Amino acid sequence: MSTLKAVRGTRDLLPPETELWNFVEETARRVFARYNFGEIRTPVFEDTQLFARGVGEETDIVSKEMYTWEDRARAQSEKAQSLTLRPENTAGVVRAYIEHKLGETGLLQKLYYIGPQFRRERPQKGRYRQFYQIGAEVIGPPSAGSESPLRDAEVLEMLATLLDELGITGWHLEINSVGSAMDRPRYVAALREALGPVKHLMCEDNQRRAETNPLRVLDSKDPGDQEIIDKLPKIADFLDESSKAHFAAVCAALNACGVPYTVNPRLVRGLDYYTRTTFEFTHGGLGAQNALLGGGRYDGLSEIIGGPKAPGIGFAMGEDRLILTLEAQAAARTNLADAYVAPMGEGLNPAALKLARELRRAGLRVELGDGGFRLKKSFEMGNKLARKIVLFGEDEQQSGILTVKDFASGEQVKVPRADIVPVLRK
Ligand code: AMP
Repeated sequence: MSTLKAVRGTRDLLPPETELWNFVEETARRVFARYNFGEIRTPVFEDTQLFARGVGEETDIVSKEMYTWEDRARAQSEKAQSLTLRPENTAGVVRAYIEHKLGETGLLQKLYYIGPQFRRERPQKGRYRQFYQIGAEVIGPPSAGSESPLRDAEVLEMLATLLDELGITGWHLEINSVGSAMDRPRYVAALREALGPVKHLMCEDNQRRAETNPLRVLDSKDPGDQEIIDKLPKIADFLDESSKAHFAAVCAALNACGVPYTVNPRLVRGLDYYTRTTFEFTHGGLGAQNALLGGGRYDGLSEIIGGPKAPGIGFAMGEDRLILTLEAQAAARTNLADAYVAPMGEGLNPAALKLARELRRAGLRVELGDGGFRLKKSFEMGNKLARKIVLFGEDEQQSGILTVKDFASGEQVKVPRADIVPVLRK
């Protein structure tokens, strides 16, 4: 008899890796609690209609990737029902918000979830058919301030804090505005017009998208089509005054609290329900599947699935990808030397060799640079080879106070030569 294995695209999580999963989930719960979010748990399967209407029939998720089945009637009084394993959790949260009349509290609902999602995608590193998302939603009646750009900025600031507390370094935030439900049809019409004469030059997928859902063309990573895509109209030119002001206010609040971001005019994301702000946090270490998390505003979603007006904003982070990033960072750290000694000027080379000798004899793993390198080059080399860099210039030689910079935290300290070994060992 052949042995049975976990189904393609699914996997077992075993100790000790599960410790890392628990660390990520505990950190997320702790950070969300500080922002006064509460946990919601919705069912793993829902009525297929919820996703068809909420996520959008034309999206890849609904048209190709859902696990859907006919649930047989068990009694004459019951009807057969089409059910679907949830491919994402926002639609379920908004359904629960409507079903439990949470809007009647008149307050903003701040809800987070942690759990498995299911999509029949082609499995590869960082892409699975059962994967885990940690997400949160801020939703409520407009009178509770649910449309305010401050909510968008607060969610983004919370995410930057969470990634920092998880110890994820080198993340990158991209934001954009896809406009209101009023702006979008004008933009889509302009896209269709611009795509008309060129779409036959594009790949098969994009030819289809140009017909069914032209916004999706902007998501395309097909290298042959990039030149055409770069020349397409930009959504920023189609935003009305209120959408423009909303986006400017989000950016201003991010600037005020020092969260770094770039505006990516092509960021439209794969789900239909987004309005105004959309965003993605990426990480270079993830390869092709580089999105750590994505989200945005969905001001019309509640009405699409039959509820009251309830604007909202939320995100979903791929827990599997967070774990991959943390594992890669840990592996990279163990391959690094403790310190890179950077002499600043060739005349200092002999004295720097003496410093390196002392550090090595104290048991540290040390790379020695070269005084012939410019400072910028020393930093680049040091960053590839070691966790910390020790700057060794004339001043340092005379004063005996060395400058040490930690690459991961960016922290720079001055340390007397006699005390440097424990600092570098940390
Ligand atoms: P989405 O719901 O498509 O906006 O995705 C949000 C986040 O979930 C992405 O940024 C990924 O980190 C993660 N994600 C989406 N699909 C998968 C998948 N098939 N496998 C692993 N992670 C995924």
